[in-house]
Amino acid sequence: MTASTPRIPLLIDGEFVQSATGHWQEVVNPATQQVLAQVPMATMDEVNAAVAAAKEAFKSWRKTPIGTRARIFLKYQQLIRENMPELAALLSAEQGKTLPDAEGDVFRGLEVVEHAAAIGNLQLGELANNVANGVDTYTLMQPLGVCAGITPFNFPAMIPLWMFPMAIATGNTFLLKPSEQDPMVTMRLVELALEAGIPKGVLNVVHGGKDVVNAICDHPDIQAVSFVGSTPVGTHVYNRASQAGKRVQCMMGAKNHAVVLPDANKEQTLNALAGAAFGAAGQRCMAASTLVLVGEARGWVAELVEKARTLKVGPGNAPGVDVGPVISCAARSRIEGLIASGVEQGARLVLDGRNPQVPGFENGNFIGPTIFAGVTTDMRIYQEEIFGPVLVILEAETLDEAIALVNANPNGNGTAVFTQSGAAARKFQEEIDVGQVGINVPIPVPVPLFSFTGSRASKLGDLGPYGKQVVLFYTQTKTVTARWFDDSTLGHGVNTTISLK
Ligand code: NAD
Repeated sequence: MTASTPRIPLLIDGEFVQSATGHWQEVVNPATQQVLAQVPMATMDEVNAAVAAAKEAFKSWRKTPIGTRARIFLKYQQLIRENMPELAALLSAEQGKTLPDAEGDVFRGLEVVEHAAAIGNLQLGELANNVANGVDTYTLMQPLGVCAGITPFNFPAMIPLWMFPMAIATGNTFLLKPSEQDPMVTMRLVELALEAGIPKGVLNVVHGGKDVVNAICDHPDIQAVSFVGSTPVGTHVYNRASQAGKRVQCMMGAKNHAVVLPDANKEQTLNALAGAAFGAAGQRCMAASTLVLVGEARGWVAELVEKARTLKVGPGNAPGVDVGPVISCAARSRIEGLIASGVEQGARLVLDGRNPQVPGFENGNFIGPTIFAGVTTDMRIYQEEIFGPVLVILEAETLDEAIALVNANPNGNGTAVFTQSGAAARKFQEEIDVGQVGINVPIPVPVPLFSFTGSRASKLGDLGPYGKQVVLFYTQTKTVTARWFDDSTLGHGVNTTISLK
């Protein structure tokens, strides 16, 4: 770090301001350990100022016509497209993922911005005409007020974009708390949002860790909290913010099983599995981290290992790289510790990616594709989310056995089945107890016409981010029952019953 290391600002009431805190954390390039910036752990006064700005801005923003709100997001999607190469480079440098995958991260967020631009078609109430004599009932979907978002390190573009565009498009104001590990691309996206026309105070940003998150959970002027991150932190946020009376949605950790039947298209399936297990160095909540080979597909391990072995490990910005570094030295040690536990507990390490040679990047947090076969459900490598480029392989005799195995795992983020049989795929889709299912699609993250629908231990709160569900999450449905008196509705006299006449 040098005196010129940039310090990341907060955004409060339309101004990018330097934090007055004494606590700063380094943002580090995981391929080189170069310090890219310093991020502040904001003070409680700063959190309060950001919430106060959002509360004030809500007074006028809630009355802003829906077309005006929509046009800001039309402009915003254009700005994101124009700045895509810069955004991807920034993201790759601080997060580690490859440039094409970094573009994918921005693109999956951009799709939500496009959806937010269609808010006029989404925030629609219902009307029932003549529910009683001269009486109509209709609904309004009104914004809640100040909403907040807390995001993880692994999708520093997509996940903030899951949150503030739809919250703001529905008429709320927003406080974002990005991951302190890679907040730079998030801040660039926030700058572009202001350039697109988001008025002052409507979007605010504070940085920090546990204390700032707790302050968000407790703050009486915040109405709703959207969280994406690990299961222990998400559970804490859900409990604490719910206790404070807020609406809360938490998308959390995972252990996604891909079930492979022997009639699957082998080449396509193995390619899909290698990509979904090792892409983004396995740091995706929807990574296919657990493979269940059924029947004769149990003989496919050696070919999968050969495919994984060919993947190139290196810095995210180098051409041809498939697997970048993991986010931090601490993450690398944790993942290596889990690999060691797998060996100790008797799994077969058929591909060991530890300590790969990456010339010129000896200090990077690299782990190459790693595969365990012969894994059983009692092992730590099966029970814990590894969140690194490690695939664990289990076996099943039949599809029924595979379905029972997946359903016995507490997580419910995603799963996939690979088969050429429509009947088998349909059985899987019907019987599997996981919220997002892929059929020959390894990472079934739905596009924003739908919502992200992780389930069971991977999620708390009933409504998911983006799509139709998030319009309900960020609004209060108000029903209005109305009668306008005219000659036909007069003359009923006093009615002391509950019924509408
Ligand atoms: P994390 O839980 O460590 O951090 C998430 C956020 O919580 C960050 O903003 C962080 O500052 C804050 N935080 C961290 N520790 C805290 C504490 N003790 N108290 C209060 N706040 C705290 O998660 P991460 O490591 O950044 O992200 C990886 C995790 O996120 C994985 O478990 C992954 O599966 C999950 N994830 C889930 C989804 C999904 O949609 N289900 C998507 C992406 C990531």
